Amino acid sequence: MQRVYKYDENRISNSTEVRLKMNNVILVVEDETGINKLLADLLREEGYRPVQAYSGTEALLLMEARHPDLVLLDLMLPGLSGEELLEKIRTELHSEIPVLILSAKGDMKNKVNLLKTGADDYIMKPFEPEEVLARIQAALRRSGKASEDRQVLTYKEMKLYPEARKVTVKDTELVLTAHEYELLFLLMQKPGKVYSRESLYELVWQGGYYGENNTVNVHVSNLRKKIRDAGSGEEYIRTVYGIGFKLGE
Ligand code: CA
Repeated sequence: MQRVYKYDENRISNSTEVRLKMNNVILVVEDETGINKLLADLLREEGYRPVQAYSGTEALLLMEARHPDLVLLDLMLPGLSGEELLEKIRTELHSEIPVLILSAKGDMKNKVNLLKTGADDYIMKPFEPEEVLARIQAALRRSGKASEDRQVLTYKEMKLYPEARKVTVKDTELVLTAHEYELLFLLMQKPGKVYSRESLYELVWQGGYYGENNTVNVHVSNLRKKIRDAGSGEEYIRTVYGIGFKLGE
């Protein structure tokens, strides 16, 4: 649980430079836990926000929940393969997100097919950290324009600007922790949808064991206070008794 607290202190910075970098959420899809962790640590050190998936199915869920800016995709995955996932991203999610394939040499037979399916780049395993970072930066630069039409989310007097990772209530900017922002981002995408505490915890805190801890309640209560203090005039985040939370009626 230490990770939770460490992450929490990571408040959204006012510095534009840091904010732009922090803005880049990168989905790492890799079933080998050692490599997944290595990539996530590397990305975090560079100021990116890694989101970790260990299977294609999990990656699909996180694509919708976390709206990453780029996907690092291993091909050999249990269940849904990397190739299948890539196809789903392009044809079912209609996403133009840059996808960088991470793969051992032997898996590169399908390189032409992958190009057709819409992979943006290939990185051979074993990889050099610098190479991975350089290719990520290049792909993000290339896709720079696409990320500009990220939609501003609105609920009553509250607005969320994904590009700036900024939330306002009646034009007052809320000072949010990274987790508070992610919680709100999730709720604002589907007002009225009820999320259990467990699912909020899994989506925002990334797969840790929920157990008996009070983390979600504490964060929701802090969020409510910040929204009220900015003058919402009513409770935006409602408790659904026995289940969890939702935005709105
Ligand atoms: Ca693998």
